[in-house]
Amino acid sequence: MNDRAGRDIERMEFLLALRRRGIGDQAVLRAMEEVPRGQFVDRDFANTAYDDRALPIACGQTISQPYVVAYMTEQLALKPHHRVLEIGTGSGYQAAVLSRLAREVVSIERYRTLAGQARERLASLGYDNVEVMVGDGMLGCAAKAPFDRIIVTAAAEEVPQALIDQLADDGGMVVPVGPHNGPQRIIKLTKSTTPDGVTVAREEQIAVRFVPLLPGQAQEL
Ligand code: SAH
Repeated sequence: MNDRAGRDIERMEFLLALRRRGIGDQAVLRAMEEVPRGQFVDRDFANTAYDDRALPIACGQTISQPYVVAYMTEQLALKPHHRVLEIGTGSGYQAAVLSRLAREVVSIERYRTLAGQARERLASLGYDNVEVMVGDGMLGCAAKAPFDRIIVTAAAEEVPQALIDQLADDGGMVVPVGPHNGPQRIIKLTKSTTPDGVTVAREEQIAVRFVPLLPGQAQEL
């Protein structure tokens, strides 16, 4: 079997595994098919890029497991006109997937090195509706708020209030919540305005393992 055929089979198995685990949204599956995960992992891991597991990236961080990327993306129920805020750019992979489904993605990373690499990678692959910023994502990005959707890809001990504030009316957020290195769950928040004021509905979803959401921009590179 030649390389090309091998890669095609690998991609088919990748999608099949997502379907088997319950990802049913065609647009999400298409985005997962289109974005080359191999380009977002270190060269040393290129041959396992399509396995359904998290992999190490620079600065002691991880690129999330494909199933969890697909799951959280599906839960966001993105529309083509949506503006999305992502906290935790990491490799830029999740941002690339979001960029296929939404109008604009703003992604914040606390490590300058990761933000720089992700920015370059996303530009070279042509994902030109993603803006990567360096900073503390716990504060969100007030200058560009409100956002139709917010996704946090690091585990928060509590959902940062700034992010709830920066969610548009009828906006939705998915965020892993739980102790660092302990049991965490994806929480889905939906904001709406009723005659009684703003309400935020909260749903608990799947159990996950994420690196921690930490305050402040990283002092290391
Ligand atoms: N979405 C990434 C996964 C990143 S892992 C991907 O697709 O590859 C989580 C990332 O969140 C790490 O890079 C970590 O540095 C970052 N992070 C943690 N706390 C943060 C904060 N307060 N603001 C911005 N980024 C943060």
